[in-house]
Amino acid sequence: MTPARFAYLRPDTLGEALAVLAREGEGATPLAGGQSLMPMMAMRMARPALLLDLNRVAGLDGIAVVEGALHIGAMARHATVLAHPLVAAHAPLLPLALREVAHPAIRNRGTLGGSLCLADPAAELPACMLALDATLVLANRAGERGVAAVDFFQGLYATARRADELLVRVEIPLSPGWSPWFAETARRHGDYALAGLAMMCRREAGRITALRIAFLGVEAAPRRLPEVEAAILDSADAAALLPRLLSPLHAEEAPAAWRLHLAQVLLRRAMIGEGRHAAA
Ligand SMILES: Cc1cc2nc3c(=O)[nH]c(=O)nc-3n(C[C@H](O)[C@H](O)[C@H](O)COP(=O)(O)OP(=O)(O)OC[C@H]3O[C@@H](n4cnc5c(N)ncnc54)[C@H](O)[C@@H]3O)c2cc1C
Repeated sequence: MTPARFAYLRPDTLGEALAVLAREGEGATPLAGGQSLMPMMAMRMARPALLLDLNRVAGLDGIAVVEGALHIGAMARHATVLAHPLVAAHAPLLPLALREVAHPAIRNRGTLGGSLCLADPAAELPACMLALDATLVLANRAGERGVAAVDFFQGLYATARRADELLVRVEIPLSPGWSPWFAETARRHGDYALAGLAMMCRREAGRITALRIAFLGVEAAPRRLPEVEAAILDSADAAALLPRLLSPLHAEEAPAAWRLHLAQVLLRRAMIGEGRHAAA
């Protein structure tokens, strides 16, 4: 299929892009890597009146440490983030997760900001943002505002982004002494996950003393589960709490009961340190 007719703008600066959004609001749809938006347009599931191409906007793809946080620009490509030494040093959860995202061709074009703004429930990066305690920075013509990852993802493909805003970067607090753990189950490597778990934890003398976990592919949006985190800190069987706490998505090919089971398996594996992980 071919997309419906649309107008197209490709600004060079953030100011120009934000001026377009201020004028057009929901009539304008940002285009990042196009790896989700273009297929949706081709299938006419998305019909933007105006496509606002961010690919020439300068300054949106930087990666740097700034005042105790790792800043990653919204237009940083998955492949760049995956290979970046600052990310490896300060947010090693991201390379663990990004290896599971699609295939090299898609990772060469797909962007961090595109994945977060799309908010696909099965995407790896939104759950990682919760585990990393990241802040998502949104800009409009009036300025910037930071939204904690726990507040950004609001449901199935729904976020806190307003129509006149662009996601410009994420800020990840540096967390020395914390280690990442990531695992997912997918039908084939590179497919969207049926269920996955992103976790950051701090261990002292072999014991977990603090942690943040978020599932992907299980519920409509990733969220923290304070009761589960507290149970882990108490060395209780946290996985036994999941049937009461989770509301898994249901689909014929991946029923809710199955996703719940996978979530329990992933959590138990995380607790015994199996799977892909970086050693504490
Ligand atoms: C075959 C295939 C397999 C895939 N498998 C996976 C997978 O396993 N896991 C996974 O996580 N992803 C997967 N993806 C998605 C891909 O990894 C990209 O992350 C995703 O397409 C979004 O990034 P993008 O840069 O392409 O965004 P686009 O497609 O350009 O945009 C996505 C949405 O975000 C909005 N947007 C983009 N940037 C901004 C911004 N800065 N501010 C505000 N709004 C913005 C757009 O308007 C649009 O609504 C797959 C894609 C394909 C085609």
